[in-house]
Amino acid sequence: MHKRLILAVALLPLLAATPASAQESELGMLPDDDLTSQSELVGFFPDQRCGTVDFGPVENPRAPLDLDAWVLKHGAEKVAVSIPVAVHVLWYTNQRGIPVGVVTDEQIGAQIDVLNAAYAGSGVSFYLARIDTTENRFWAKAHPGSLGEREMKEALAVDPAHTFNLYVTAPSGLLLGWAVFPWSYPEDSIMHGVVIHYGTLPGGHLATYNAGDTATHEIGHYLGLYHTFQGGCTQPNDYCEDTPQEASPDYYCTIGRDSCPLDPGLDPIHNFMDYTPDECMYEFTGNQTARMDWALTTYRPSLISSKAEGDIVASPAASRTGITSVAPNPFNPKAEISFTLRAAGMVSLNVYDLAGRRIRTLLEQDMAAGPHDVAFDGRGLPSSVYFVVLKANGEQSTQRVMLLK
Ligand SMILES: [Zn+2]
Repeated sequence: MHKRLILAVALLPLLAATPASAQESELGMLPDDDLTSQSELVGFFPDQRCGTVDFGPVENPRAPLDLDAWVLKHGAEKVAVSIPVAVHVLWYTNQRGIPVGVVTDEQIGAQIDVLNAAYAGSGVSFYLARIDTTENRFWAKAHPGSLGEREMKEALAVDPAHTFNLYVTAPSGLLLGWAVFPWSYPEDSIMHGVVIHYGTLPGGHLATYNAGDTATHEIGHYLGLYHTFQGGCTQPNDYCEDTPQEASPDYYCTIGRDSCPLDPGLDPIHNFMDYTPDECMYEFTGNQTARMDWALTTYRPSLISSKAEGDIVASPAASRTGITSVAPNPFNPKAEISFTLRAAGMVSLNVYDLAGRRIRTLLEQDMAAGPHDVAFDGRGLPSSVYFVVLKANGEQSTQRVMLLK
């Protein structure tokens, strides 16, 4: 409760400065080329936050007939998949001679960490397989369904059946990103993957959408999730019983919003599949996780079998090295970080900020196998989101934590 109140207060200046009517009227005046500073973003309204469209063949089912029954049948085979990520950076030089679309390797690393924190508990994790950089204005500005998108993907896609292709571009019109649903094409199609605006990467210029959760959201589509407002206040909505129905997207983190009053529960404004600012969204539900398992198993079996770590196992967490909990979270000033080591060995536990800078080293030593705890003292640090990264036994585990003073 406390956290949500503070978030609401933090968002007030944005709301006050940009009433909806002004936002929309100014949208057409924004330079669609090179938003390089936050001052140019006055009036920014993500009217095109997400351009994902479900155009897959109608004969393909969009949901299991009964998700609960599917989970009961497959629950013991919880999918644990470690997905290699090929990042393709597209950039160009605008009329003023300024490069547009350039991002740093640190930002890409921080983006992968954001994804692993967001998907922790889902059984899906990501690791950086490669980065390539291409100068091409036409591709960088491409929109969903365009010739530029197809050309870009034909030229750059890496083994789409076994690799997640993430295109970091600079689409015009302030479109933040789009994805392709798993049923839209055969699993080896070059069209698969996600395209995101480079300004949405951690530390990017598109405040309040610059903490990396545009990628989190779009990958939700890539793994079969619909928007929480899909279908409005009617069944089957997003095919997930545990996300309350929502009449329309929430752009503002509207605490207490209840746009479908006949449906139990408040709007799922903290869900990654809504349209709220990055700071506001922090969860997937159990049904969403089950739906990802269903979609992966049904449409992307090669992705599951792409790596040894991707084997279907009875209990993904038990035998692995990883952070098991951070409590409390949000915290002030101290949090206890619990983790498990699969085997004895050298352990490092570091804390990074949103820009990918290491700000604390909590551990750097040999440790025994089994469970361990260590304290993270946030005194002297500003309120923000941080990433705790555990490395041991050749494995890495990342947890997102929030310091709220
Ligand atoms: Zn979306």
